[in-house]
Order: sequence, then C-alpha cells, then structure tokens
Amino acid sequence: MAKCVVIGGGFAGLASSAFLSKNNIPVLLLEASPKLGGRAYSFKHKRQKNFIDNGQHILMGCYSNTLELLELINARRNFFFQDKLNLTLRNHSAQEFSLNASRGFYPVNLLMAILKFDAFDYPDKLKIIKFFTGLIFDKNKKLTGMTVSQMLKERKQSDKIIKMLWEILTVGALNTDIHSASASLFNKVLKEVFFKGNFASKIIIPKSDLTNAYVIPAKKYIEEKGGEIIQPENVKEFITYNNKIVALKTGRRTINDFDCVISAIPFFALTKIKNNPLQITLDKSKIKYSPILSVHLWLKKNNFNKQFYGLIESPIHWLFNHGKFITLVTSNAKEFLQTPKEKIFNEFLDEISNFFPEFDKNEVFDYQVIIEKRATFIPTNEYEKERQKIRSQFSNLFLAGDWVNTGLPSTIESAVKSGKIAAGNAVNWIRKH
Ligand SMILES: Cc1cc2nc3c(=O)[nH]c(=O)nc-3n(C[C@H](O)[C@H](O)[C@H](O)COP(=O)(O)OP(=O)(O)OC[C@H]3O[C@@H](n4cnc5c(N)ncnc54)[C@H](O)[C@@H]3O)c2cc1C
Repeated sequence: MAKCVVIGGGFAGLASSAFLSKNNIPVLLLEASPKLGGRAYSFKHKRQKNFIDNGQHILMGCYSNTLELLELINARRNFFFQDKLNLTLRNHSAQEFSLNASRGFYPVNLLMAILKFDAFDYPDKLKIIKFFTGLIFDKNKKLTGMTVSQMLKERKQSDKIIKMLWEILTVGALNTDIHSASASLFNKVLKEVFFKGNFASKIIIPKSDLTNAYVIPAKKYIEEKGGEIIQPENVKEFITYNNKIVALKTGRRTINDFDCVISAIPFFALTKIKNNPLQITLDKSKIKYSPILSVHLWLKKNNFNKQFYGLIESPIHWLFNHGKFITLVTSNAKEFLQTPKEKIFNEFLDEISNFFPEFDKNEVFDYQVIIEKRATFIPTNEYEKERQKIRSQFSNLFLAGDWVNTGLPSTIESAVKSGKIAAGNAVNWIRKH
C-alpha cells in the first residue's frame, strides 16, 4: 500500500500524519528530537516533577483547522473554551478594564463590549468602532506594503488607543511590534477573530500541559491507524531522481520504501537538508524570527482570581494562572535575549507586584525562565511577498509548517492548516499514481 513519510513532529507534522491516517494512508513520522510537539512542547520540571510547557499556548475559536484536528484525535475535551470573548487588562495602578462580549446577538454584543470598555473615553471608543467598520470595506491592495503602525495613523487612531489596544493585539497575534507587522495580515487576523461570529472570538486554553493535551492523543490516533512514529531520527539528505524524491538519508539509515514525503519542519531546518527544494526559490534573508519569553512562578498561595490577564504598558504582556503556578509571557522578547535569567526573574517579580497588590513575592518558592529564540517568524510585508514563491520542486514532496503560504501568521492554526493541505495533496497524488 502507498506510504507517506512525514518529517517533523510538531503541530504541522502531527496534523499531516493524522489527516493521512484518517484517509488510511500508512505513515512513517520521523522526528529529530527525542520529544514530539516541536515549538509547542512540554517537559517534566526537574524540581516540581510536573509537566510544564515551553511557553503558554492559546488557540482562538477561529482556529477551525486546529479544532478539526483536536476533534479527530479526540483531544477537544482537553481544552477550556471561553463562553464568550472575555479579556481583562490591568495597568500599573492595578486598575482593571474588561472587554466582555455579552450574551446578546453577534455582532451587536461585540459593539457593546467596545462601548463598555472603560479604558477609553467616548471619542476614542467611536474611533475604534469606526476602525472596525472600516475593515468591512478594506481593500487589501490599498494596504500592500503598509505596516500596522502606518495604517493606524492613516485611520486616525489616537496614541492612547494604539498603546492600550492595538499594540497589545499586534504583539499578541503576530509576536512583533506595530512598526514591523504587515497591515494586510493584521487586518486579516482581526477579520477572522471578530467578523466570523461569537465562537471565532473565544479564547481557548489547554487544561493541562501540551503533551497531555494534544501530543499523546495525536500519537495514539496515528499509531492506532497503523502509523509509525520514530524519534529521535534526523533527516539529512533527499536523494532525488527524475524530479522525485526516491530515498531519504537520516542519521542512521537510508529509507526508500515510500511513495511520497511531507516536510513539516521549519524553513531554517529544511534549508539544512542536502538537496532541499528551497535552494533556488527563496531568499533566506527575508525570513526573520522573533523570540518569546516565559517565566513560570510556583506559588505557596495563589490570590489571582482570573484565568489570565493582559498587562498594559509593561514588559510582561500576559499573566496566565494555572493554580499552583503562574506563567508570565513576553512576546517579541528580543531585548531579553542577553539578560541573565535571575535578573529577569527579579525584575518580573517587582513588575507583577505593581500590577497586582494581591500578589506577595514571598509566596514564590520556585521559578523557571524559558526563552524560545525562534518562536515565530516575523510577518513583515517583505516575508508575506516572499512566502508566495514557496514551491516544492519535487512532484512527490509536499511542504507543511507554519511558515508556508497559508496566509496566516506563525501560529498553531497556520501549522495545522498547512499539514491538512499537504496531507490532502499527498492523498490526491497517491490516488493518481
Ligand atoms: C513560546 C511559544 C509560544 C507560542 N504561543 C502560541 C500561541 O499562543 N498560539 C499559537 O497559535 N501559536 C503560538 N506559538 C507558535 C506555535 O508554537 C508554532 O507556530 C507551531 O508550533 C509551529 O508548528 P510547526 O509544526 O510548523 O513547526 P515546529 O513546531 O517547529 O515543528 C517542527 C519539528 O520538526 C523537527 N525537525 C526539524 N528538522 C528536522 C529534520 N531534519 N528531521 C526530522 N525532524 C526535524 C523539529 O525537531 C520539530 O519538532 C508559540 C510558539 C512559542 C515558541
């Protein structure tokens, strides 16, 4: 029976393998590292002995491909779904502002949420509503080459709205600042989240660590369908003949008993494979990466009463409350790349104390600082243009990964969408040959 090799065991590789398995195509998944999950992974904490994530991951209701995958692998119940969009922001003076969609009809409830959002006065609220209504008539061509910052100025958003709303949403959704992010991609994300009904704007959070939430269910599903997952096994070379991949050389063997291959590894990893299909087509200098910093704090006593908070004008962007421990998240964290971890820990304790008087830093008994240097690619206009050129040069090789041309930022949804498309193309190819 036709067989497909999937390279990479992150969201894109697991999604490709699961969708191939659904179509009864036997899969061999090769993952270079000893763990599955790629950039969305967890590990057992040495001292606390429980599993923690390399960084907090959230999904949105508009992640339709990801939700389909979770359904397929029976993992949807491992995620907590908000009732309606509900976002609490805090400022330095511990003032709280809530953006809550009521139970009313969509989109009136979202409009009401903005009107009730206390962070702004009426003129600013009207500017925000005008911005959102303007999105309906957005011509993507007009935005070509524009950054988010240029677009916000053009659409007369005040400095306060930019600081307290757009900067938070841009860094949260695109992991970069308003001066680098592509305006057309940002608007596309806003439309996906806010213009597709109440469900699309819900925030979805794993109930446990990522290994238990999706990696184990995906592995179980693929293996039950007859697939094989091997780790660690690193693919190093493509052997090609007549415009086809005929064999793969890994760190320990040569594999040639397959019909097609899905590459589900990041751009930089694919360029390292000998005879890769990107050698001629893509300009490497156009793809740049942005780090995410996560600080996990274990607490003797937890006084936080919300599941998560956004922080206004702070180096910490989000606080996620997991009960025994909390996670502080800084997106676009390049300024922390050289900072010693202990210094980050101490500075963040002081910062959290300002925002949350109910937090007592003496209650913290352990911590872990993790910085993922290449957490996401930066969705600049240059990259969005370059991305459209991505092609596989081999007829039986299909490309997946959050970076391929999905039209989405560097997210789980982009990875899963790419995996589902690659699996669909592989199935069609197998049926034709
Ligand atoms: C800290 C952090 C927080 C994030 N938060 C969010 C969030 O809240 N929401 C969201 O949607 N996204 C978030 N992201 C982004 C999201 O994690 C990624 O977009 C997604 O996981 C990418 O999946 P992928 O499968 O495309 O690539 P990866 O996860 O990078 O997987 C690629 C896999 O391929 C393997 N590999 C590489 N080379 C080879 C080879 N030669 N042979 C075999 N295997 C190989 C790698 O080891 C890796 O396991 C976050 C990322 C980070 C780091």
